[in-house]
Amino acid sequence: MKISALSKEKNTFSFEVFPPKGDASLAPLEDTLTHLYEYDPDFVSITYGAGGTNEGRSVDVCKLVKESGHAVMPHFTCIGNTREKIDEYIGNYLDLGIENVLLLRGDLPEGWTGTRGDFVHADSLIAYFREKHPGLSLGAACYPEIHIESDTLEEDVKYLKSKQDMGAEFFMAQLCHDVTAYERFIECIRRAGITVPVVVGIMPILSREGTIRMTLSNGCSIPAELAAIIGRYERDADGFREAGKAFTARLIDRYIGAGVCGLHLYTLNKYKDVSEIIDACDIAGFRAGCPR
Ligand code: FAD
Repeated sequence: MKISALSKEKNTFSFEVFPPKGDASLAPLEDTLTHLYEYDPDFVSITYGAGGTNEGRSVDVCKLVKESGHAVMPHFTCIGNTREKIDEYIGNYLDLGIENVLLLRGDLPEGWTGTRGDFVHADSLIAYFREKHPGLSLGAACYPEIHIESDTLEEDVKYLKSKQDMGAEFFMAQLCHDVTAYERFIECIRRAGITVPVVVGIMPILSREGTIRMTLSNGCSIPAELAAIIGRYERDADGFREAGKAFTARLIDRYIGAGVCGLHLYTLNKYKDVSEIIDACDIAGFRAGCPR
């Protein structure tokens, strides 16, 4: 199923997983996926190693999801790669019969000594795919609190519009713990003529260090409510986890209340915690609704 078509018909609910590192077994992820499928996700996305590292494992996971009968969306980054390499890599996914792909520039891995590759930004990769693979449903990344390399929201939105103009049919948002900031972003992109659906990304709050690292390294804000949890549970990992899950559930319900059309959970491959969060939210009510 194409996500572009699905997003027009209904509110979508979906998961992100990441492939195991190196030669590690796929079995734990298979088990995680089996539990996540109980929620009947509209699609599952699979992250891609920076610069194409671990590429084979992403394809393996993609195959697993595809074989389960669920719609799949691999992430795909272009940085550091030539057109020829990109054609070769994407061929592995096309052989599986994928219908969706999230096209990203990516970031160069630490210590990278090669060139930046044939595509400087995601918009040119999208234009290349639109022409070469017209049947694919193309997604791209967006940043409600702006990309860390951008100086202004206006600059970021200008390039986001370029991604839409080049053929992106939906956007997947970076984590954003602040629904008001997200609403301001949506207002701004709609004013700029960006009309495609935006799927909200939810990062479960599970570990104190992980939350601080992920949030700050992406240049995202920590609202007072979350800052209080970080402060209160400095030496209590279990307490932090419980309070973090409750915060994540409240955040999801606030996004639902704000009328979003898609919720994508970055599962961190942790189905138990993710299940508890989902069970505490009105996901059924959200899915019964239609995109506004
Ligand atoms: P771009 O769209 O190229 O934007 C990067 C910066 O350049 C921004 O500041 C933008 O404003 C600016 N810019 C854009 N176009 C132009 C232009 N034409 N001229 C000048 N400036 C421009 N990374 C991975 O390695 N693997 C993953 O699986 C992965 N999944 C992700 C999923 C989501 C939902 C998100 C939000 C991010 C993901 N990332 C992933 C991270 C992403 O690769 C990084 O955020 C990266 O720094 C930017 O990628 P992009 O596609 O947004 O780049």
